Amino acid sequence: MKIPMSSPDLTEADRQAVMEVLSTPNLSLGPKLPAFERAVCEYTGAKYAIAVNSGTAGLHLCVRAAGIGAGDLVVTTPFSFVASTNALLFENAIPVFVDVDARTGNLDVAQLCDALEHIEKYLPRRSPVPGGALKAVLPVDVFGQPAPMDEITDLARAHGLKVIEDSCEALGATYKGKQAGTFGDYGVFAFYPNKQMTTGEGGVIVTDDEQAAAFMRALRNQGRAPGDTWLSHTYLGYNYRLDEMSCALGITQLNRLDAMLAKREQVAAWYFERLRGLAGLEIPFIAPETTRMSWFVYVIRLERRIDRADFARRLEAHGVPVRPYFLPIHLQPYMVERFGWREGDFPITEDLGQRGVAVPFSGVMTEEQVEYVCQAIRAVLNGL
Ligand SMILES: *Cc1c(COP(=O)(O)O)cnc(C)c1O
Repeated sequence: MKIPMSSPDLTEADRQAVMEVLSTPNLSLGPKLPAFERAVCEYTGAKYAIAVNSGTAGLHLCVRAAGIGAGDLVVTTPFSFVASTNALLFENAIPVFVDVDARTGNLDVAQLCDALEHIEKYLPRRSPVPGGALKAVLPVDVFGQPAPMDEITDLARAHGLKVIEDSCEALGATYKGKQAGTFGDYGVFAFYPNKQMTTGEGGVIVTDDEQAAAFMRALRNQGRAPGDTWLSHTYLGYNYRLDEMSCALGITQLNRLDAMLAKREQVAAWYFERLRGLAGLEIPFIAPETTRMSWFVYVIRLERRIDRADFARRLEAHGVPVRPYFLPIHLQPYMVERFGWREGDFPITEDLGQRGVAVPFSGVMTEEQVEYVCQAIRAVLNGL
């Protein structure tokens, strides 16, 4: 058996919705865009939604809306997909990393608190631009589990900082009963095909800030403010528009999101049943504040004695692909070159980065496939 790492969950109705757009003349900036944005507002409870062509683009627009510029300091996590930090580098801001909670992989509140009091202790060894003012906190809801947002927003407010919530892995998750992505000044979701729902490429920003929403809408569309013609541009903008085919798919996918999340929850439950208590690995930890997990990936942690590359090779031989999750951001080559981070700077992130393994996961996996993967994992662990 050959198991795919992830698969989008698509129906005939999804395909039909895209096909219908193709028989209209409106392939971009048509009626599907506002309809999709309204649906996102209804689902999340946010006042405004701004659809864009990737989660990364969404994060970048939040950075612009927050007024973050060259040298500004933003406290964030090195245990994430690189886009959460790259969005800061696009504006030459300086990411100030703090380490994560070993159980969840989300920002560690005690360290965040310390960093906001003593930011100088947390600055990178060097930076291509001189350090400026502390402007924002950028937490990430890792693997579909919300970061401790009550503490994060309280701390940010006490220090007069903006909060950009990277919820690109957590659409539909709830923290103390409230939707992920709606805690900070801005939240971002992403729709790449391996996410909980997809538009092909795509993302969306949610916010309750009317002015910021209007500004981000303008920036997404080449800096055209309301009243600008096609060739007049009030701001330096981008082409971050989401096309109509993607918006149409977004609408039908979002309609089914709760059902798709329930299927993913079932797949996670099958993994939990089979992997709980197995010697050699740890299963995911769900914090009590997480009132709903939005399963993005299922990541196990190998015991330190196990060589992950060897484990992965042996599983591949059974037709089971796995991925290391995440390789720490501060150790990516361009980050080391720019900021001088070193191994040992964020020990928990590095430990999780060395031991984390995402196993095949999607809402369309069958129990038989999960059983096959778990048998392969058991066989490999026994053979080590
Ligand atoms: C997926 C993801 C993004 C955005 O990815 P895009 O491919 O640009 O849509 C951003 N941050 C995190 C943590 C992600 O997992």
